Amino acid sequence: MDNKKPVPLSVPNLSLEILENVKETIETGWVSTGGRFIKEFEEKIASYVGVERAVSCQSGTAGLHLSLEVLGVGPGDEVIVPTATFIAAVNPVKYVGAEPVFIDCDDTLNIDMNKLEQFLENECNYIGGKVINKKTKKQIKAIVVVHVFGNPANMEKLMDIKEKYNLKIIEDSTEALGSYFLEGRYAGKYCGTIGDAGVYSFNANKIITTGGGGMVVSNNEELLDKIEFLGVQAKTDPLYFIHDEIGYNYRMTNIQAAFGTDQIDRLESFIQTKMENYNLYKNAIEEIDGLMILPFRTDTRPNYWFYSVIVDKEKYGISRDELLKKLNNNNIQTRPLWGLIHKQKPYLKNQGYNIEKALFYEENLINIPCSSNLTEEEVSLVVKNLKELKR
Ligand SMILES: *Cc1c(COP(=O)(O)O)cnc(C)c1O
Repeated sequence: MDNKKPVPLSVPNLSLEILENVKETIETGWVSTGGRFIKEFEEKIASYVGVERAVSCQSGTAGLHLSLEVLGVGPGDEVIVPTATFIAAVNPVKYVGAEPVFIDCDDTLNIDMNKLEQFLENECNYIGGKVINKKTKKQIKAIVVVHVFGNPANMEKLMDIKEKYNLKIIEDSTEALGSYFLEGRYAGKYCGTIGDAGVYSFNANKIITTGGGGMVVSNNEELLDKIEFLGVQAKTDPLYFIHDEIGYNYRMTNIQAAFGTDQIDRLESFIQTKMENYNLYKNAIEEIDGLMILPFRTDTRPNYWFYSVIVDKEKYGISRDELLKKLNNNNIQTRPLWGLIHKQKPYLKNQGYNIEKALFYEENLINIPCSSNLTEEEVSLVVKNLKELKR
């Protein structure tokens, strides 16, 4: 089973038509943080997810950082985050001088809303509109919710919790551009557009890419003004260079946006391919004893960004780690779930609440190739490997 051509986990799907845009940036000299593509890309994203306005930035991480800052999270505060996520969802909490509190995931891989509610109810006091952590005596100001692998988190429950406890919600939608709700209070609403702020990423492994980049959306105009302002060095007077606050160099470049305006037009076709490949995998993997592909929520239209397979060692015959190793040796790029964040060195002293499920998924999950340019033949090759490696 020596596959000559590697099957990558997740790679960009770029068209040469982007060169036309890039050529224009070179010819006009607009290669930096000004130029028509930036505005156009922001407008296209805003209109796609159905909001008034979007503000671009250098990365998803930068967008999360700015969102926390403008929502008033600062030194001495705490922010509730999931432990089963990519670390970029958590690090910005530290950038603003706050500390994270880690919550478990449920079987959707998203933050467990019941445990979140139990934590707020049992481990915190709610006095005068403020949530105070009983253990640390610190105020909890916000929750960062991640729509893991493009599967929407339960926003109805989360927004109820927000109302009840007066908390800010930041939707880390870096993996979920294009996912939306089909049923309930938020039917028709896109991930990222429900909380106080939503953040998208255009890093190379995301569903669309600008090489690197991010975007913040919100229904709060003032908040977006502030994010835009802080992202360009907080320049109060552009002629005399007056700065009344500490800002950042967090702007997206026109070259990045030149990629984005083309990529966003292709997003729906990428999601279509990802859905078709997911269904091919699903039908095949259902036949393999000991493997299970995780479902996406059926009351949503997910973007099918990453596919997750759970390995039952007893039934499958080899362990998750053996399977990972063998697939990678066979040139089929797979990886485990991220190392849980509460176990990472910088976060060992932070509080974690009842973390159990995340440990199971950390131990038993693999992500299989899922690029939007993955062919049917490649899917078959992955499936063939999964069948033949069973003992
Ligand atoms: C990719 C990702 C980010 C960060 O986005 P960048 O654009 O790479 O900075 C944040 N959170 C999660 C969950 C991600 O997957």
